[in-house]
Amino acid sequence: MTQVLDAQLLTDHAAPGRACGSCTACCSALAIIELNKPARRACDHLCRTGCGIYEARPASCREFHCLWLRGAIDGDQALRPDALGVMFDYFRMASTGETHLIAHELWPGAFDSESAQSLLDELVQRGDVQLSYRDGRWSTLGQDPM
Ligand code: SF4
Ligand code: SF4
Repeated sequence: MTQVLDAQLLTDHAAPGRACGSCTACCSALAIIELNKPARRACDHLCRTGCGIYEARPASCREFHCLWLRGAIDGDQALRPDALGVMFDYFRMASTGETHLIAHELWPGAFDSESAQSLLDELVQRGDVQLSYRDGRWSTLGQDPM
């Protein structure tokens, strides 16, 4: 059973045995304020070997750890974002302190794969999951639409 643990949501480092490796999913999925880079577009600094400005990359890049990297999601390398096609993050509501999961689709149809569906089915048992589709749409999976 996949578990997402709040304590692991809050860690700011990679879990033992987990590493980004060749994954660069967050470099395309996320908006990077310092670079004026919009979400869902590959960063201009991405190159064949990864980040072309790695030593000088902005704080937003240095500090980001997706939930797979944090170890907040059980699973092996097959669930690393570049393999699964889905990258998980979370946000905390200032008003209630509740955490909500966000699933970023990395390529069209990635949410529909058997592994992604199975993981989403398990995660939604914990609470709602905000789905960010590759084409810019959003929807809420679960009982608590926002
Ligand atoms: S999406 Fe996760 S595993 Fe992939 S590069 Fe970003 S932090 Fe690392
Ligand atoms: S600056 Fe580097 S680490 Fe940051 S989004 Fe661009 S390629 Fe990725």
